Amino acid sequence: MSFASLGLNAQLVQAINECGYTEPTPIQTQAIPLVLKGGDLLAGAQTGTGKTAGFGLPMLQRLSETKAKPLANGRPPVRALVLTPTRELAAQVEENLRAYAKHSDLTTLAMFGGVSINPQMKALGRKVDIVVATPGRLLDHVSQRSIDLSRVEMLVLDEADRMLDMGFIRDIRRIIAKMPVKRQNLLFSATFSNEIKQLAEDLLHEPEHIEVATRNATADTIAQRFYGVDKNKKRALLSYLIGHNNWQQVLVFTRTKHGANRLAMQLDKDGLPAMAIHGDKSQGARTRALSQFKEGKLRVLVATDIAARGIDISELPHVVNYELPHVAEDYVHRIGRTGRAGSQGEALSLVCFEEKPLLKAIEKLIKQSAQLEILPGYEPLPDSQQPPIEKPGANNRGRGGNGGRGNGGGRGQNPRNANNKAPRSNRPNQPQRHGRHDD
Ligand code: AMP
Repeated sequence: MSFASLGLNAQLVQAINECGYTEPTPIQTQAIPLVLKGGDLLAGAQTGTGKTAGFGLPMLQRLSETKAKPLANGRPPVRALVLTPTRELAAQVEENLRAYAKHSDLTTLAMFGGVSINPQMKALGRKVDIVVATPGRLLDHVSQRSIDLSRVEMLVLDEADRMLDMGFIRDIRRIIAKMPVKRQNLLFSATFSNEIKQLAEDLLHEPEHIEVATRNATADTIAQRFYGVDKNKKRALLSYLIGHNNWQQVLVFTRTKHGANRLAMQLDKDGLPAMAIHGDKSQGARTRALSQFKEGKLRVLVATDIAARGIDISELPHVVNYELPHVAEDYVHRIGRTGRAGSQGEALSLVCFEEKPLLKAIEKLIKQSAQLEILPGYEPLPDSQQPPIEKPGANNRGRGGNGGRGNGGGRGQNPRNANNKAPRSNRPNQPQRHGRHDD
């Protein structure tokens, strides 16, 4: 199967070749001909499947086939809008679309918050065919009348489930109200809650449905490992694994912003250069951390789920679930950061006793049972025997990359651990309270 045989024109095929794509991914094979036909689309797919080209290539082709009528004020209109949940995803989608549009005269603009609005205003003074935006900043532009959406011909909701999770539904509806009724709508979502189904029903007109296998179903390029570990020794085990295995580029997931900050600080103290990205960091700090990580200058990037949405780093070798996500689908999103485009990746999960119910939910979703590995010195302990949480840096200074074992939180380090060998899994399950995602 070639891109040309899907009906794409020579300019686009050339741009795709220059991107290094040799053949279409499953979502592209399905989506491209359908979008070219002009109808609405409901697609079950997530980042990492090649969905950006799946909607972006036919979008560019359709826009290049017709000429847009100028707005009443004589200015060229915005013709397509892509809404994304996060700034990082908006930046990445726009970058991809720009590469695909290289040999056409179509222009793109990314628009998101956390950065000054002025350069975006200035850019809107020129011809912009495609805007890729997060909902909040787009509405700022709408209210300042710096953008006119009345001629939008195509709308893409990218990662719609995330946008709803993040509370963007009202913003999305306000944005839709600014667009003409007649337009092509494409909705991409990894999951299909009732809320998404409702949105699809309201938004889409006789849509075609496509669904591509989630990464868990094609996980042969991702080796998944699960370590049973004491909650208070997770950080030590993580340092140990990174140092011992000499991993140079590791993406680590925590559940909360606070947890991400704390872990990044602790790893840094352990001699493992680390930074955190999450919703409370300034956009500048997020972009810096991400680009240093992508360039291989930063060894560990600690992220919350939402901040990490859409991060695409080719051939990212290691993803660690420092804490299991509350929502099992997030596990699939997280590990989808590794093992991309056929390269081998490894996804590790550190699982403490309290997380057993979360692990069960993941096992059910991925239809695999997780074999817990236990490293000596890091065994899960019964609740009542938990040692106090170590003070950061108390025992861990100057460890370099060699990790936690035998130094901070390793075997028998706390006398209260040393005497207790009872495996935690023997204890009855207790009701747990979990914090919620706070990003
Ligand atoms: P996406 O799911 O759109 O975020 O794409 C994930 C990654 O796959 C990006 O780095 C794309 O550049 C890359 N990609 C998309 N389509 C192809 C393809 N047909 N062949 C190889 N890589 C691709």
